[in-house]
Amino acid sequence: MAVVVGRQALHVKKGDLVEVIHGKHRGKRGKVLRVLTKHGRILVEGVNLVKRHTRPNQKLPQGGIVEKEAAVYGAKVMLVCPSCGKPTRLGHAIQDDGTRVRVCRRCGSALDKK
Ligand SMILES: [Zn+2]
Repeated sequence: MAVVVGRQALHVKKGDLVEVIHGKHRGKRGKVLRVLTKHGRILVEGVNLVKRHTRPNQKLPQGGIVEKEAAVYGAKVMLVCPSCGKPTRLGHAIQDDGTRVRVCRRCGSALDKK
């Protein structure tokens, strides 16, 4: 696996809906929970679940096996456009007020709400 040095800008943000396009979780969709720019990885809700054997703690007085999301490579997911509902590549556009937005390359709609 490639070693990434330094922070990496990713195409996705927390809260985005993404679809996994590679690996054993291909086709799964979920919301981005966290972006780990340092590692070029992201946490996606319901994707790449691992079982953690947890000791009893305050949150979980019983302890036991907990399913948790593990990070996946950012390059292995594609953003799902909320307008056309398909995985898409991103473009950028400058709006009238000068702010930059991410746009869907398929349907051209802006992906960042204000
Ligand atoms: Zn679209």
